[in-house]
Amino acid sequence: MIHEILPVGMLACNCSILGDEATREAIIIDPGDEVERVEDVLKKHNLVARYIIATHAHIDHVGGIARLHRVTGAPVLMHESDLPLYENVAAQAAWLGIAPPEVVTVDQFLSDGDALRWGSRVLEVLATPGHSPGSVSLHLLGPECRIFSGDTLFQGSIGRTDLWGGSYLEILRSIKDKLLQFPETTPVFPGHGPPTTIGAEREDNPFLKQL
Ligand SMILES: [Zn+2]
Ligand SMILES: [Zn+2]
Repeated sequence: MIHEILPVGMLACNCSILGDEATREAIIIDPGDEVERVEDVLKKHNLVARYIIATHAHIDHVGGIARLHRVTGAPVLMHESDLPLYENVAAQAAWLGIAPPEVVTVDQFLSDGDALRWGSRVLEVLATPGHSPGSVSLHLLGPECRIFSGDTLFQGSIGRTDLWGGSYLEILRSIKDKLLQFPETTPVFPGHGPPTTIGAEREDNPFLKQL
């Protein structure tokens, strides 16, 4: 499998591009607003975009999804509970003091347990609300098992819950019920910062001590 990680935008959101070598199909998780760099990776590996997936609708993750949709034609997917956040992305831009991005119609809403297929790969959707109402994590099935935790779980930390619709109790419940169920060796790729594992977070993450 091809897995490229690009820290994109001024908040360094980790964009992951997962490509299937056999079919040359790819999914793009959280492209941020650096569409050209995503396009360069697709070109470098001769990949066609199959899905554009947002773990949640904060502007650092979704700023470029409209443009990426326009240049690739790939459908845009997110959880319906974050649609109000996405539709108000201009307010998020004003909050950060940046120009409002172009907005696109969401093609498909993600629900807990959905299976997204591209090439021979399957990505399972895990609803992990708390950082935002529609935050999801994504679980790549099979021997290359890994989790994309968005802004729900970071190395040594968890996502902030003081933004629109956040809930501290909910994010802890999501982490406990959905993420800590995975084996200790499971790699985790957070929305910001370095990768980690479920075991390392269970052991060292101060926010998870109370779980
Ligand atoms: Zn966020
Ligand atoms: Zn973020």
